Amino acid sequence: MISLDRIHKSYGSLQVLKSISLAVTAGERVVLCGPSGSGKSTLIRCINGLETRTSGQILVNGHELHPNCENIADLNGEVGMVFQQFNLFPHLTVLQNLMLAPRIVRKLSREETRARALRLLERVKIADKADAYPGQLSGGQQQRVAIARALCMQPKVMLFDEPTSALDPEMVKEVLDVMTDLAREGMTMIVVTHEMGFARTVADRVIFMDGGVIVEEDAPASFFARPKHPRTKEFLRQVY
Ligand code: ATP
Ligand code: MG
Repeated sequence: MISLDRIHKSYGSLQVLKSISLAVTAGERVVLCGPSGSGKSTLIRCINGLETRTSGQILVNGHELHPNCENIADLNGEVGMVFQQFNLFPHLTVLQNLMLAPRIVRKLSREETRARALRLLERVKIADKADAYPGQLSGGQQQRVAIARALCMQPKVMLFDEPTSALDPEMVKEVLDVMTDLAREGMTMIVVTHEMGFARTVADRVIFMDGGVIVEEDAPASFFARPKHPRTKEFLRQVY
């Protein structure tokens, strides 16, 4: 589904990603963790073309993402993204937020898009807020809208970058529950998170990054019970 082959990324002289190779198969749930500045956001932003890589190859569902990301529009529908800060359009209602991209990018009819959007709002349990503006919603509600908005494009893969880090503690669960449901339905997911409970119960694989490299990866049971690398052990001590 997603294949990264020796991805390098530098900002000037700062090497942020150093030869990252990673294959994620259809239906797989991968959790990506690591200290601040280790390159997690940069890596997932490269996958959906928000950043250009310096070198290396990226395949999404068999299609190569061009080095300068010029063909990202062709792949955009395949990869959905959810950000820490929700990034909803503040001047649009919840329903309009969901309908915008399918209408413009996919050129779907208004009726079809609206029906799809309303179904998704039901699914994230927020249908009653369809006509509200983002500013009228709690953080947890906004993040559920952001998930529904990404799903409205019917992506094959969903990328999450610390989707619960900006939320008050009491709202974390409602967002993780939606993500867990999505995983159970078989969505391919790459999730940057420090929610180790989520990683334990939902991930097929946990990847630990530090200093722009993948230091260790394993199934969650062994990752948490028997971390091998000293840096992984140190990280786990800190997040628990
Ligand atoms: P966090 O857990 O804090 O979100 P992260 O693992 O997501 O960290 P990145 O945001 O990928 O880390 O950043 C990796 C490194 O790249 C950091 O040293 C950061 O300062 C640097 N960096 C990120 N974006 C830019 C940019 N646009 N220009 C220059 N340096 C950048
Ligand atoms: Mg980050």
